[in-house]
Amino acid sequence: MAYNTQNVFAKIVRGEMPCQVVYEDEEFLAFHDLYKAAPIHILLIPKAPYESFDDFARYAEQASIAKFFQIAQQIAQQEQGLVGGYRLVMNTGHNAGQTVPHFHLHIIGGAKLLEPVSIEEKK
Ligand code: 5GP
Repeated sequence: MAYNTQNVFAKIVRGEMPCQVVYEDEEFLAFHDLYKAAPIHILLIPKAPYESFDDFARYAEQASIAKFFQIAQQIAQQEQGLVGGYRLVMNTGHNAGQTVPHFHLHIIGGAKLLEPVSIEEKK
């Protein structure tokens, strides 16, 4: 499936939509989630058009993949509220509930988090 250039994160990368920046360099951008699921909820994205984790892991340079995770760790370390622990989430595809088709890592914390996985009951 072709990357949809009209998704919200693509618009944020192009500066067409605002965001509260936490970290930015030439390749990556981190910003606060607009509808946060916990007291701290940050999204880290590559600026390049990767649709999902699958896409990023398959096609990005190894150095970029390593840098992505180093930045995630640095952000987590810098956020005082994450001292007690945090959760990293990469929803990938429909069944995982990925709603924005631009690869993103959720960095979530600031409170004790409940069970991470629940499944939809079959009717
Ligand atoms: P997903 O469900 O795809 O794993 O995560 C998408 C995330 O993007 C959600 O947590 C949602 O709250 C967040 N989000 C959706 N639209 C916007 C937006 O316009 N700005 C920001 N900062 N976050 C958004």
